[in-house]
Amino acid sequence: MTQRPNAFSQWPDARGRFGEYGGRFVAETLMPNVLRLEAAYEAAKTDPAFLKDFDDFARDFIGRPSPLYFAERLTEAFGGARIWFKRDELNHTGAHKINNCLGQVLLARRMGASRIIAETGAGQHGVATATVAARFGLPCVVYMGATDIERQKPNVFRMKLLGAEVIPVTSGTGTLKDAMNEALRDWVTNVKDTFYVIGTVAGPHPYPAMVRDFQSVIGREARAQMLEREGRLPDAAVACIGGGSNAMGLFHPFLEDESVRLIGVEAAGEGVDTGRHAASLNGGRPGILHGNRTYLLQDDDGQIIDAHSISAGLDYPGIGPEHAFLHDSGRAEYVSATDAEALEMFQLCSKLEGIIPALEPAHALARVRDLAAELGPDGLILMNMCGRGDKDVFAVAEHLGERL
Ligand SMILES: *Cc1c(COP(=O)(O)O)cnc(C)c1O
Repeated sequence: MTQRPNAFSQWPDARGRFGEYGGRFVAETLMPNVLRLEAAYEAAKTDPAFLKDFDDFARDFIGRPSPLYFAERLTEAFGGARIWFKRDELNHTGAHKINNCLGQVLLARRMGASRIIAETGAGQHGVATATVAARFGLPCVVYMGATDIERQKPNVFRMKLLGAEVIPVTSGTGTLKDAMNEALRDWVTNVKDTFYVIGTVAGPHPYPAMVRDFQSVIGREARAQMLEREGRLPDAAVACIGGGSNAMGLFHPFLEDESVRLIGVEAAGEGVDTGRHAASLNGGRPGILHGNRTYLLQDDDGQIIDAHSISAGLDYPGIGPEHAFLHDSGRAEYVSATDAEALEMFQLCSKLEGIIPALEPAHALARVRDLAAELGPDGLILMNMCGRGDKDVFAVAEHLGERL
């Protein structure tokens, strides 16, 4: 019998399972890499020298801690609970992703890796990985679907500027899931010198727990900042969900605070009923992908369906296994917001707060609006503003019918 953790924050168990989710469903040839990584991470995560390195670079290179900001005019507009933003959009490279890349690249150095690989969909994780790899002088190879390369030219160029090599993936639909398969294949072939930086709380154990731990800097800071500014914990912590890393990073330090509702917002695209969405929990079912068991978008034959969202960062057809566990156990709630709602919030937040949000957190804002009304003026909401919208202005202009 393996021991079952008895508190939400203590998962995964020794086999990397979050209840019936997670685990390590990988080819035999990949097992040595995964085990070596697990051992290295276990040693690093309690080593004061490693943690100090992380804190130092988080401060000087990323710009942490990010502020906690009272969104006064949105609070007025929604007419209910007080709304606070955790401003991770102010990080270097414009989103939360770099927190995780910093942690993994520091670990890669510690393990003596001489080559970094990553997968990317919209290119945000590729850019963040290439940024940190450049800082430490490590060669970086980024796998990207050929379809995505066409759609995301500015990010492809950014990665090149940062010295990374972008390899087009033409298998499948030429999107994120195919890039992830290709990166796993590279990792099997180049066992000795290569470190694979996964961009969200997915993949085989220890990735979901490790990425969560690196992103938990968001929730740790925000929890302390809320106590300092409001003298109490929020009634709800809200974040958007692609693979689930910014949400897991926000949620984890609050898991044992029973009074705090944890709310993840998936991308409903054109509507969860239309089949054109990215809502793995609200519109998918359990299966196995990328080394772990979790909720996935799949057809009746179990084939993975490409996700759809106005926001390229949310269209991953799965979700981190810890979210699947928190969903089934009821500790966290998972709702969704459509493309149209995200577009509306994108514009509203820009006008009222002087903050152009990324389309991803604009989804979260749509449910913050409902929640503010539900909780009323005595309520307190914490939302992770996980990315800035500079990257999205061209897409939004097109949707609004404006020619730039
Ligand atoms: C990549 C990205 C996401 C989705 O990833 P998670 O792992 O769910 O956090 C959300 N927001 C922004 C700004 C992103 O760049």
